[in-house]
Order: sequence, then C-alpha cells, then structure tokens
Amino acid sequence: MQHAGVDALWISQPANIRYLSGFSSPEDAKLLLTPEAALLYTDSRYALQAAQEVVTEVHIARSPATLEHAAGRVRGLKVGFEAEHLTVAGLDDLKQSWQAELIPLRQLIEMQRLVKSDDEIVLIRRAQAIADAAYAEVQPQIVAGARESDLALALELAMRRLGADGPSFETIVASGERGALPHGRASDKQLAVGELVTLDFGALLGGYHSDMTRTVPVGDVGPELRRLYMAVLDAEEQAIAAVRPGVRAADLDALARTVLAGHGLADAFTHSLGHGVGLDIHEGPGLRAASDEVLRPGMTITIEPGVYLPGVGGVRIEDLLLLTESSHEVLSQSPRVRL
Ligand code: ZN
Ligand code: ZN
Repeated sequence: MQHAGVDALWISQPANIRYLSGFSSPEDAKLLLTPEAALLYTDSRYALQAAQEVVTEVHIARSPATLEHAAGRVRGLKVGFEAEHLTVAGLDDLKQSWQAELIPLRQLIEMQRLVKSDDEIVLIRRAQAIADAAYAEVQPQIVAGARESDLALALELAMRRLGADGPSFETIVASGERGALPHGRASDKQLAVGELVTLDFGALLGGYHSDMTRTVPVGDVGPELRRLYMAVLDAEEQAIAAVRPGVRAADLDALARTVLAGHGLADAFTHSLGHGVGLDIHEGPGLRAASDEVLRPGMTITIEPGVYLPGVGGVRIEDLLLLTESSHEVLSQSPRVRL
C-alpha cells in the first residue's frame, strides 16, 4: 500500500478478496484494508461461514450500511480502489458515502498472486490430478457416434465424483470442423471417423483451477489433419522445454509462433500461448507478445498453442506447468497422442 501511495485499500474483485481473507463466497463480500485493520464486509447469510473461514475482522451489513460503516474507517485517508473491477456505479457510491481521496489502482493484488504459495500449489496440483483421472475414465468413450455434450457431461460428472467442487469453466468439446472454434462449447454433434476432437477442461478445488486440452483422433484422420496435429505438438513441446525462471513470457509466445510458422501455420495460431492459473482460470502472467512479464519460481502457467482452419478443423494441446527453482514441472499427466 505504501508503494502504491495509498493509506487504505477497498478490494472488490472476488478472487482478490478470497486470496487476502480466505472467505470462500467472495462474490458477496468486500474487503477494506486500513493501517489498523483488515475488515471483511458480507451479509447475514454468511455470518457463520465468515466466522469460520476468515482471518480478518468481519462486519455483517448490507449496502448501504456497509459503506456507512467503512466511512468511519477511511475518513481523510487516501483509499486505493481496483480500477479494473469496481463498477462506475460502485465508484459513485464510494464518492457519495466517503470523505476520502479515491485513487485508482491496477493489478496491485494480482501482482502478488502471480507466485503461488505452497498451499496454493497443493490445491492446483490436486485439481489437475482430478482432471487427469476424469480424462482417463472418459477416454474410452471418445469414439465415433459419441455426442460432444455427452463427453463434456461425462468429464464433469467424473471430476465431481473424484472430489472437484465443479468444473473450472464450461467444458469445451469441439470435433471435426467445429474444432476451428477455439472456444467451441460442447454441442449435440456426434463424433465421426476421420475427425479430430478437442477437449479443454479443468477441475475447481478449494477455489483453485486446473486447465488442460487434449486433441485426439477418431479413427484415421488422414495426412492433412495429422500434419496440423504434429505441428502443434512440435510447438507445444518446444515451448514447454524452454520454460524456466528468467525467461520472458513474450519470448515463449514468439518461440511457439516461430515453430508454427516453420510448418506454414503462422496465421492459424490466433490466440496467445498461455496464461497463469490460480484463483482465476485466466490470470497473470499472460504468455503473449505484449507481455513484459518474466517467469519466476512458483508461477503456474499453461502452454497451449493451437491452429484453427475454418472449414477444416483445429488442434490445441494444453498443459499446466509449475515453475520450479531451476526449471519446471508439468502438472498435467494425461498422455498426448502422437499421430
Ligand atoms: Zn484450457
Ligand atoms: Zn487455458
């Protein structure tokens, strides 16, 4: 807070609230940090839960009583707020209720969340292990005639049965030409022989996410799709091999792009190489050209090159990695096919 030039902080982004306080229903809470105290505001539905979970002082109130209570704590202070998350209406309410100087801040808590603690890594590792076990269960069902939506349901059911709190995000299953949709939600389309099918899914555990993609063939997919697949696998393997502390995120993205360009697929890789994973499914560091992030031990990131050709199909292969002191560990254990 000193570094950011503020006396206090008003936290409204749910994952940031959870990160700082431990409260597991942060969508219905706000957090105030002052020089004297850390204070979680939530409503009476969560009184018992907050008392059990939260390490900070708790005040039970609904808005506008929340802001009136906080007003007494922030009078005359410079209060930072999360410019990327507080709504226009939310900022108006603060201006009306408080006699304080409001300072917009970006990425303050997100920067702290980049490097995971041992406890966070335990949860991310377990979430990924659940997703791997679910994939092993469902893999025999990835055959001609299977519906995309049934495969998504089977994966989500298996993850729940194996202990997940839920899926990390809406499970993606995209087969055949639908594979050209990077975020193709599972439809009622049936898999057909000669298609590739892309499955992108993860488990949620204790607020933490996992994220993995596998692309698999249904029968013989022919030379063109095989070529696409092996090009993406080449890019993924080369990018993973280069992951270590001190490497620039932008350089990893460029490396994967160069490999795909070598296969004549530069224009078909339409998204960034990867992202951080934690309390949010997409968080820092972003592995993209515009990033100035440098990888550090304790970061958890995905490597996920993909190619998408409208009318033909698509391939994405994604693994979840932990940055170690000198290198990396691949947390996702599901086998990748070679074609
Ligand atoms: Zn994914
Ligand atoms: Zn991802």
